[in-house]
Amino acid sequence: DTVYLNGSFMPSAQATIPVLDRGFIFGDGIYEVIPVYSSQPFRLQEHLSRLVHSLDAVRIRNPLDFSGWQAMITRLIQENRAWKDQSVYLQVTRGVAPRDQAFPVPDVEPTVFAMSMPLSTPSAELVASGVSAITALDIRWQRCNIKAISLLANVLLRQEAVDHGVAETLMLRDGWLTEGSSSNVFIVHEGTLLAPPKDQHMLPGITYDVILELAEYHAIPLRIGAVSEAQLRHADEIWLTSSTKEILAVVSLDGKAVHDGRPGPVFRRMYALYQDFKNQVMRPR
Ligand code: PLP
Repeated sequence: DTVYLNGSFMPSAQATIPVLDRGFIFGDGIYEVIPVYSSQPFRLQEHLSRLVHSLDAVRIRNPLDFSGWQAMITRLIQENRAWKDQSVYLQVTRGVAPRDQAFPVPDVEPTVFAMSMPLSTPSAELVASGVSAITALDIRWQRCNIKAISLLANVLLRQEAVDHGVAETLMLRDGWLTEGSSSNVFIVHEGTLLAPPKDQHMLPGITYDVILELAEYHAIPLRIGAVSEAQLRHADEIWLTSSTKEILAVVSLDGKAVHDGRPGPVFRRMYALYQDFKNQVMRPR
């Protein structure tokens, strides 16, 4: 497979970075993941504007302008076109410098890396059956709205899910639902879709926004507001959303069935709306 590193395309085996890269030493960098269907990036503008927000938030200079990012991503997709659907990963670190927490003086060039991986969206069986999840305390920091590469808490939380043989860990902070270790979470209560508000405790998901737009457009009752642990535990439906998972129903939480233990009607409707929407925007050229 072909990757991009600091201006050049090369086989992944040839892409190497210096050990003093601040991404390696401090986890000092940000990233982005963009789903690509039939060679077309989905919601590219939104993903790149979130990338810019992440860069600004951690004060790393944006190494490319919009058309520079777009051209690089287009070429990366072309180079890896053997995969029908792809997941494009972008990473920018503060660069290479002697080890010191403070920003390097003088400024150094950010390290820019990009790769593509095959995108496998959940199978029809998984969509129909739903998945299980557990809950855990949200042990992360207070800037979860930044898509930072320092993901140790997420790694530990996701491993807890794997250790329990379930798909995801849903996080609770001070008794409120934040998100999953690598997904946003919605619940349905008596037909109304409830979504935690975008704040510093969760990543503003691109898929989350698509779901909100679809709910509004199709007049599905929607309320954006804090979701308590009690609301989560008594929800009629729980959903996970992300660029690679799209939408999945959680049918068991901490070993207890969510409602009747099957994906609910609002989920099934939203799943169909999401697929229709995706197919409309991604219509082969
Ligand atoms: N929350 C976290 C912690 C994530 O890592 C992700 C990424 O997959 C999401 C939410 C979902 O974001 P998006 O829909 O942009 O993929």
